[in-house]
Amino acid sequence: MVEGIKDKVVVITGASSGLGEAAARRLARDGARLVLGARRIDRLRALASELSLGEDAVIQTDVTDRVQVKALVDHAVRQNGRIDVLINNAGLMPSSMLERLHIDEWDRMIDVNIKGVLYGIAAVLPYMTEQRSGHIINVSSVAGHKVGPGGAVYSATKHSVRALSEGLRQEVKAHNIRTTIISPGAVATELPDTITDPDVAARINEVYKSAISPEAFASTVAFAISQPQDVDINEILFRPTAQV
Ligand code: NDP
Repeated sequence: MVEGIKDKVVVITGASSGLGEAAARRLARDGARLVLGARRIDRLRALASELSLGEDAVIQTDVTDRVQVKALVDHAVRQNGRIDVLINNAGLMPSSMLERLHIDEWDRMIDVNIKGVLYGIAAVLPYMTEQRSGHIINVSSVAGHKVGPGGAVYSATKHSVRALSEGLRQEVKAHNIRTTIISPGAVATELPDTITDPDVAARINEVYKSAISPEAFASTVAFAISQPQDVDINEILFRPTAQV
């Protein structure tokens, strides 16, 4: 068990699969008090039951709806009296070549990957500034550091997450609030399943042949949270050893 996690109140968006689910498993093991959000409530309920979290630990949440994101955070505070950590993890990656004009998919990525993160920040800031403590972890990507063919919009959203996080860091440090960007490379999750452009899917599937376990992400989350309050891990960038 890692010190510095026990009894922390942690809200995770997108906890119904992949990285969010792995973080929930890890933080539950380390004694955090979890509140989990995602749209697939059945999967959240199954996870809560497996981790013995109780029914109140999960709330159906669509992060594109700011009212629902606020309700998730308000619920966590009502249940636990405070919020220590928000992990803005929900995201999707229906990447495509721009010339294919998959404009609905561009919109969805912008709504979930950027606006969803902003709604999370908006929901926790009033509590964290009042508490004079807190930690906001935003999930970016290796794609937040570089751009490849077919990845323009996804990369733009993940570059945005890094820009928002850095601006946030500078503004909220006066309130004793920490901010961390976690930028993973290829991790074996359902993320590539939403790609509808066959050429991009083939290219991404090639990269994901070397994808690593979501446990790698969970370890970085645990590392960032478990630091003393005066230590702010600003960004963790990791990828499979085999990934370019
Ligand atoms: P998954 O597809 O396994 O998980 C995505 C999660 O996001 C699901 O829990 C899904 O839940 C949730 N989600 C999607 N849309 C919404 C929405 N509108 N409202 C609420 N939740 C939503 O992928 P990952 O676990 O890999 O992705 C998690 C994060 O990690 C994303 O931000 C992704 O961009 C990032 N990332 C992942 C990498 C990887 O290689 N896996 C690499 C770099 C970054 P539900 O459908 O139930 O709502």
